[in-house]
Amino acid sequence: MTVQLEDVTVHFGRTCALEGFDLSVAAGETVALLGPSGSGKSTALKAVAGFVRPTRGRIRLGGNDVTDLPPARRGIGVVVQQYALFPHLRVADNVAFGLRAARKPRAEVARRVGEMLEMVGMTAYGRRFPRELSGGQQQRVAIARALAIQPSVLLLDEPLAALDAQLRADMLGELQKLRREVPDIAIVYVTHDQSEALALADRIAVMRDARLVDIAPAAELYAAPPSAFTASFLGGANLLPVSVDDGEVKVAGTVIPGLKPAEGKNLLCIRPHAIRLEAPGAAGLAGRVVGAQWRGAVNQVTCVVDGLADVVVRVDVPADRRVPELGAGVVMVLPGGACSLVPVGVG
Ligand code: ADP
Repeated sequence: MTVQLEDVTVHFGRTCALEGFDLSVAAGETVALLGPSGSGKSTALKAVAGFVRPTRGRIRLGGNDVTDLPPARRGIGVVVQQYALFPHLRVADNVAFGLRAARKPRAEVARRVGEMLEMVGMTAYGRRFPRELSGGQQQRVAIARALAIQPSVLLLDEPLAALDAQLRADMLGELQKLRREVPDIAIVYVTHDQSEALALADRIAVMRDARLVDIAPAAELYAAPPSAFTASFLGGANLLPVSVDDGEVKVAGTVIPGLKPAEGKNLLCIRPHAIRLEAPGAAGLAGRVVGAQWRGAVNQVTCVVDGLADVVVRVDVPADRRVPELGAGVVMVLPGGACSLVPVGVG
């Protein structure tokens, strides 16, 4: 079922949590709302769920206006960060809750609960209480409960935020599996974690200060970010001011070969892994190393560029390559194919 937010604005007193927000999520599509804390992601999700009432705008599900319907009558599955299982109900009864509320026959409830627990790998835990489960297991039960009512829309609000790294990776795999097993469901996934958004979403909607900044297929947004904000939020791109001279793009006076100028776009965007460090004398941006941090698979090296004040360039050097000494002169090689241009000050 299609989810549509049309020009939705939400005010809490004098706080504007969401401003003129438009989004359409198709059946079978997963859209991630990605943005820093306080950017309005949860508010957008709650407006769809019916937990907050828009000050302006409409919410449609499958084409029907549900703006005035209470949450329970929207037929949506919702999973929030803190699981919110009923503590006094056993796992199986938690999963059965929505089915019983909808007065489904006992046999159907039992069958559906069995299917859901199997799908999330929790068949053996039906008799347990939530407090007898780990965080990851509770989260699986929460997902089973949300899906038990066979919703055509699933809303996930930071569902992995409370889990540790290993569990988060496992659950990410579970969610990918879920998308394959319930192919027609429309999923809206709120996260501030770009790796979750990249792993799960067909499209990513980047948010900032109550507004939508950019929306595009995940790969496209990553490869060619339309704005400086998205470039740095998604993948921590470097942004370097450029000048255009004689049809050539230059950074600090050095020509970037293979990069064509574009009207109104005067920041060069390049990912830290795409830059190569060479010894002084090579063709590229001359500068020096000002910092290095070991991150396991890579060393994250920071450099300054000669002639560019206030700009620090982050370079990921694979762990098997030598890291230049702190203070050493280096040349940063920026392959034109890995560079794109973005406008200053969008978003
Ligand atoms: P995000 O999910 O991106 O972290 P939220 O949608 O939760 O952001 O919040 C957006 C803004 O609205 C924030 O400034 C937040 O403090 C404010 N806000 C959210 N919910 C409420 C509320 N119930 N009452 C008052 N302000 C709120």
